[in-house]
Amino acid sequence: MWSLFDRFLGSLSRCRLCGTAAHDTLCPACRDELPIIPHACRQCGLPLQGEDEKRLCGECLSRPPAFDAARIPFLYADPIDRLISALKFHERLSDGRLLGSLLAATLPQTAEIDLLLPIPLHRGRLRQRGFNQAAELARTLARVAHLPADYRALVRVQATAPQHRATRRQRLRQMREAFAWRGNGPPPPRVALVDDVVTTGATMDAAAACLKRAGAEWVEIWAVARTPRRD
Ligand SMILES: [Zn+2]
Ligand SMILES: [Zn+2]
Repeated sequence: MWSLFDRFLGSLSRCRLCGTAAHDTLCPACRDELPIIPHACRQCGLPLQGEDEKRLCGECLSRPPAFDAARIPFLYADPIDRLISALKFHERLSDGRLLGSLLAATLPQTAEIDLLLPIPLHRGRLRQRGFNQAAELARTLARVAHLPADYRALVRVQATAPQHRATRRQRLRQMREAFAWRGNGPPPPRVALVDDVVTTGATMDAAAACLKRAGAEWVEIWAVARTPRRD
């Protein structure tokens, strides 16, 4: 499971989390303690009890989202949340490479995906932050998993984020026009949306709906972490 990870980060010398000498960015002990999600809804990545690989959560059964499958290895919990914050708010790009490699290490040998698309930030937010954390993750994934990525075709045309207190239906309505496809021609059939963390799923849902309208047939959501409840 960790072979890609080892090869990619094999030359560093201190564990990013505990500081002990290590061959990799994480020492074996810290790596073993990462908050892996053992069982999840295969469509939205929501953590579930039980071991049925094919399971769907209640919400995906009753109101399926526009995306078709999720690959989200970790819970949004210590230390993954710390690494994501360091990337996002302190621009620690090395943590972006670490997180991207951790995500890549959990992908199957051949991910049947034609194109990676990071969730874009709105222009104003991008100016403010200076970089897009999802694009940083997609860059590492593209390199490690040998997949093409496009950083321009999917754009965010609406600045407002969905409100956490809104119901799912309200959030979807708020997000419906948030994304636009500006590629030369339609997207390829199988695409993966990339983001750092999935909370309600509304952002991914809106982006996936945009891609389906533009012609994509299969949309996966790839993220480092998932919050336990989508309420
Ligand atoms: Zn360590
Ligand atoms: Zn689900």
